[in-house]
Amino acid sequence: MAVIRGAGVKQAHVFLNSIGCSECRPQYLEKLKTYLKGKSGLCEHCKSRMTKNPLRVLDCKEDAEKLSDAPRTVDSLCAACKAHYAEVKSLLKMYVIPHTEQPRLVRGLDYYTRTVFEIYPSGKSGSQDALAAGGRYDGLVELLGGAPTPAVGFALGVERVLNELEAQGALPAVRRGVFMLPLGDSAFEPSQKLLWQLRETGIRCETGQPDQSIKSQMRLADRLQMEFCIIMGENEIKDNFVMLKNLEKQSQDKVSMSEIVGKLQDHYKL
Ligand SMILES: [Zn+2]
Ligand SMILES: [Zn+2]
Repeated sequence: MAVIRGAGVKQAHVFLNSIGCSECRPQYLEKLKTYLKGKSGLCEHCKSRMTKNPLRVLDCKEDAEKLSDAPRTVDSLCAACKAHYAEVKSLLKMYVIPHTEQPRLVRGLDYYTRTVFEIYPSGKSGSQDALAAGGRYDGLVELLGGAPTPAVGFALGVERVLNELEAQGALPAVRRGVFMLPLGDSAFEPSQKLLWQLRETGIRCETGQPDQSIKSQMRLADRLQMEFCIIMGENEIKDNFVMLKNLEKQSQDKVSMSEIVGKLQDHYKL
C-alpha cells in the first residue's frame, strides 16, 4: 500500500482473506472437495481444477454465482491462523488502510499461507483492475531448500498503476528522464548497454522493447513523462550515433554515441 500511495495513487482499497496454513488448510480442502463434488454445471476449467487445485475454483469468474455458497477458508482456520488474521485486520485499521474481507479471494499457488490480498483502485473490484496482488508464503524458502523463513510478497501492475494515476490526474507534470527506444533485435544489446551507462550517472531511464513499434514505444515514453527519447535502429548503430528526441520541445538531434552520455549528464547537471 505504501508503494502504491508513494507512486501517487490517492485512493486504493485492500481486499483480503486468509487461506490458512499447512495445519488447517488440508481440512478446508477436504470440505471444499466434498462441496465441489456435489456441484454440477461448472465450467471446463473448474472441472479439471477441482481435483488438481480446488482452491483455484473459487477464483473462477464464470462460476462465481454458482459457487456463492462454497465453504469459506476463514471458517476453517486453526487457532493460530485465526489470531494471525485478526491481528492483520487490526493493523490495517491502525494504519487507516481501507480494507474489505473477501472470503473467496485465493492465490493459485500452493506455497501461499495465511494472508492473501489484492489492491484495487477505490470502489472497484474484479481481477482485471487489481493494482497489486500477493500474500504470505511462509513455506516457500523451505520448499526451495532453505531454512524456514517467514515471507511476504506481491506483484504490482506498473501499467495499471500508471493508468490509475492518469485517471486520478496525478501523473507528475514535469518531464524528466530518458526513454530508450530500440528498433529491431540488433538494437537491443547496444541500447541496453547505453541504458545502464545512463542509469549509473543517476539519470532516470526506462526502455521499450525492440519488437514493439516506434509508435507504441513513444506512447509509453509519453505516459512515463520522459523528457527525452533515444532512438536506436540499424542505421544509427552502423554509423555510431543515436537520435535524441526532446519530447517536450518535439525537437530531434543526431548525437554521436561517444557524446550522448556526456550531453545528457550536462543537461541534468550530474
Ligand atoms: Zn492454520
Ligand atoms: Zn469455472
